[in-house]
Amino acid sequence: MIDTSSIGASDISKKAMPIEFLDFNVYGLSRKDLEARLSENSISAVHAKSVFRSLYKDLAPASDASHHFPRQVEAYLNTLDLSIPLSIVSEQRSSYDRSIKFAVKLHDDQKVEMVLMPESKRITLCISSQVGCAQGCTFCHTGRMGLLRNLKPSEIIGQVYLANLWIKSNPDWLAQCKLAPNLRITNIVFMGMGEPLDNVESVSKALDILTDPFGLYLAKRKISVSTAGHIDGLDALLENHPDVMLAISVHSATDSERSKIMPINRRFPLDTLIQKLRNLPLQQKNGLLLQYTLIQGVNDSDDHALKLVNLVKGMNVKINIIPLNPVGPSRLKGPTTERLGSFRKVIHDSGIRALVRYSKAQDIAGACGQLVNP
Ligand code: SAH
Ligand code: SF4
Repeated sequence: MIDTSSIGASDISKKAMPIEFLDFNVYGLSRKDLEARLSENSISAVHAKSVFRSLYKDLAPASDASHHFPRQVEAYLNTLDLSIPLSIVSEQRSSYDRSIKFAVKLHDDQKVEMVLMPESKRITLCISSQVGCAQGCTFCHTGRMGLLRNLKPSEIIGQVYLANLWIKSNPDWLAQCKLAPNLRITNIVFMGMGEPLDNVESVSKALDILTDPFGLYLAKRKISVSTAGHIDGLDALLENHPDVMLAISVHSATDSERSKIMPINRRFPLDTLIQKLRNLPLQQKNGLLLQYTLIQGVNDSDDHALKLVNLVKGMNVKINIIPLNPVGPSRLKGPTTERLGSFRKVIHDSGIRALVRYSKAQDIAGACGQLVNP
């Protein structure tokens, strides 16, 4: 998530702008889209593969002269917008863990953030799916912005593209992180700004491109979509991508308390959400990740932990406990170390896997719930 702390409430429009789904940028086209467009123009669809390979494998930007496409293909491509539809405007490096938070500017001067997180042998990129978010969770900075607009597929892919170009031109960072010189992004998490399933068409299209064998070719199990529990969006996502990894934000095991901190619970209540999760296809529901942000005095008692255990009884889930990251002027606090330990123990003792996720990039406000329009 991205840090909204620098934004005053008056700067923030609570009103959603109209969503423009049509994407004329080349980075917003799946290979199938490109094949169809080439065919419509009487060009062999087979060229879509080499266009994809050149863009995504060789990382040669579409506007580069280095491509050697047949003339007809080049002429068609020139009818599209070939620019990378966003640009990095600032980067902040964490002194704790070498994570980097980037502020990224879109064509209309809106900004989102993305966070690059090195781990042993892998590089995870946390990306945004919306400018702001309509869901208004009380503990989340992005939620305080309201929704400004959805990102288009090209703007989602553009984040990954830009991050890969940045890695390619910063071999020192790879060396400092003790990562192989040719390593590029290996994992993606949709845990930046926005509720991905409120923008499911763009996210689905981006997944097509991210997983394409001629494109970025990321395995679906290396891509996690985190949702506050948008059931309609979940149905739409799974129709196209039944095998993408899911992370479900639960944060409370009772409807009344959950609704107070996550307004989405009034639309998609907990029992409907859990029922949905229990009925997921086998490959999805095995090892499903549930996220629980722990907030002092709000949802962190042993009784809360027992209720959570009860809620998920019989499910094969992993629980990721995220101590609340401070969010600007909010009075909400993270749990004490003792409370965190005790909460985890109750879950663990019931036989459910419980991991504490200490957010990366906390010193640069790039941790969960801290991302905002910079
Ligand atoms: N909108 C999606 C994805 C982005 S948020 C969702 O809500 O799942 C990614 C994760 O960060 C979610 O689990 C979210 O609840 C959590 N989060 C939000 N604000 C936080 C904060 N201040 N501290 C810790 N976790 C937070
Ligand atoms: Fe939106 Fe997720 Fe933040 Fe809730 S936690 S406001 S759904 S980004």
